[in-house]
Amino acid sequence: MTGPEIPESHPRYESLLTRHRIEAGVDRGLTSRQGLIAQGRGEAFDYLLGEETIPSADDAERVAAAHLLRADHPVLSVNGNVAALAPGEIVALAQATGADVEVNLFNRTDERIGRIETHLREHGAETVKGSTADGRIPGLDHERAKVDADGIGAADVVLVPLEDGDRAEALAAMGKTELVVDLNPMSRSARSAAVPIVDNLIRAVPNMIEHAVELADADDGTLDAIVDSFDPEDALAAAEERIRDV
Ligand code: ATP
Repeated sequence: MTGPEIPESHPRYESLLTRHRIEAGVDRGLTSRQGLIAQGRGEAFDYLLGEETIPSADDAERVAAAHLLRADHPVLSVNGNVAALAPGEIVALAQATGADVEVNLFNRTDERIGRIETHLREHGAETVKGSTADGRIPGLDHERAKVDADGIGAADVVLVPLEDGDRAEALAAMGKTELVVDLNPMSRSARSAAVPIVDNLIRAVPNMIEHAVELADADDGTLDAIVDSFDPEDALAAAEERIRDV
């Protein structure tokens, strides 16, 4: 998927690779055209963050892994950008943490849900939720509110990468522990999260897998201590500081 036209020696290789994956996602009908705009916003913030995982984001990724491991019913929410950028990594994170994977689209069509589901299966997912849509997130209009009742509807911990602010806020209002990956530390999604991860999804998910593998045998006390030590305000402030300092 690297795209033959991007030499690895290019100084902005990773950024161009990400862009290429989103373009390919749009071409394949996985990603909506609005996904291109979200990508552009993300790139701008990533540039300001130095296009690397800053220490506070690494910490948040470890905390997120601990949340997923100790959850009763963790779910990883997948939209069109996530499906284009890191499908195999999301499946691996689900396997490493015992989480469900659910397709959850802002611009929902059954066709696109089906395509993303197939794409995730091609990347190793056994079960993909999201097509039943028999649950609702209160406070949102009908189409935006749809989730699987036994998926996100029943989840205690949800990873929502690149989520739209309204839905992130509505999910948090349902009492779910929300882990948000968003390069913009000022977005409503990041601000409504129990764990805001201000990092590029393509770096964040592999790093969360590493932390989950490292914590796989940790006892509940250890996981609780990791989770309790985290302050979302500090994480957001550290990211903002990094952006202002660059
Ligand atoms: P708000 O949460 O303030 O309502 P929004 O809903 O308008 O924001 P979108 O335009 O939907 O946000 O954009 C989604 C968010 O995803 C943006 O904040 C953008 O920075 C972020 N984003 C885009 N690409 C990535 C990526 N690869 N990794 C992490 N975050 C990303």
